[in-house]
Amino acid sequence: MKHNDFEFDSYFKNYPDCNGYFGKYGGSYIPDELQKAMDEITEAYYTICKSSKFIGELRRIRREFQGRPTPVSHLERLSNSLGNVQLYVKREDLNHTGAHKLNHCMGEALLAKYMGKKKVIAETGAGQHGVALATAAAYFGLECDIYMGAVDIKKQAPNVARMKILGANVVEVTDGLATLKEAVDAAFAAYSREYKDCIYCIGSVVGPHPFPMMVRDFQSVVGIEAREQFMEMTGELPDAVVACVGGGSNAMGMFSGFLNDPVAIYGVEPLGRGPAMGDHAASLKYGTEGVMHGFNSIMLKDENGEPAPVYSVASGLDYPSSGPEHAFLRDIGRVTYDVVSDEETIDAFFTLSRMEGIIPAIESSHAVAYAMKLAKQMERGSILINLSGRGDKDMDYVIEKYGIR
Ligand SMILES: *Cc1c(COP(=O)(O)O)cnc(C)c1O
Repeated sequence: MKHNDFEFDSYFKNYPDCNGYFGKYGGSYIPDELQKAMDEITEAYYTICKSSKFIGELRRIRREFQGRPTPVSHLERLSNSLGNVQLYVKREDLNHTGAHKLNHCMGEALLAKYMGKKKVIAETGAGQHGVALATAAAYFGLECDIYMGAVDIKKQAPNVARMKILGANVVEVTDGLATLKEAVDAAFAAYSREYKDCIYCIGSVVGPHPFPMMVRDFQSVVGIEAREQFMEMTGELPDAVVACVGGGSNAMGMFSGFLNDPVAIYGVEPLGRGPAMGDHAASLKYGTEGVMHGFNSIMLKDENGEPAPVYSVASGLDYPSSGPEHAFLRDIGRVTYDVVSDEETIDAFFTLSRMEGIIPAIESSHAVAYAMKLAKQMERGSILINLSGRGDKDMDYVIEKYGIR
């Protein structure tokens, strides 16, 4: 398919290039000693991702442990209430541990095992990535160190308990503001000390090469399954595909299945309380080009050019940049990025729960809210939404802050 004169037939062969660039975005901007470790991961991945043994083992794990394929569900009552457009959801809420993150954590941990590493390390903010990685580490019998700010440890007690029950070592970080940024710094410092025995597992399609590519590849199972299931259910492709974008992993997984099709693709960012800096985390909408956390992309910067403070009702979307591939797909016009507010998101959270019996994660509710708006604008057709996770983790917070609607 041609889109704005861009050839998608050989897209996955050409993007990223061998240095990890999607156009001008991506790459690797890290200290030399970490670059050595990253090169080792890149080389191992390029070899292993073509090995039938690796692919076969990952397929078996997806089926027998994760419970894949996850279904696609038709949202009949919700669709009828909005008009003629038919809405469908890909049910990543039914993936083991309740979200899409385990898709890449199982891949990363399997890679660690193939590389002969004993340990995986990562940082976590809200704890979702930490729990998924701790799950993967337990499955493979790997040690697992999760770096987490002291403030977040207090706020996210259930996820801290989960990680500990799963056998992970939660390392408390007390420097600075003791939140995600300090946890990232501490985890990178640990990695440069320990990289011979471990690999660092990044939690989205961000960070230095090869992670944006590798995490996309591990998540592409979502788009591959969804495309096939949708075709089988309806005999055709959806007219539009919608996913929420924080770092962008669930979205890239879904989008990668449809880039070469005549399907409109929408990435939804959090507008939070509004467009003023500090009130949202819509980096692709309001950001500018810059380097952070080891990669070049579009980011929200403060007046000193440092990553700006961001806000969203969804802690998983609360990130001042997005993966380099999203920046690229935006620039070439293949994917449209737009925003929904906290208010619209909470409405969608209750609407999906009430009309379909599915309590969505607040992150995923952004995609649902956008699809509901889109359905009202379109006269006919179908929309496939990636429901990245379940909302059990968000129930107490929603009721405390918004009450029952
Ligand atoms: C972490 C998370 C996200 C955001 O991460 P992406 O890398 O942007 O996909 C979205 N939905 C859920 C349920 C999450 O846990």
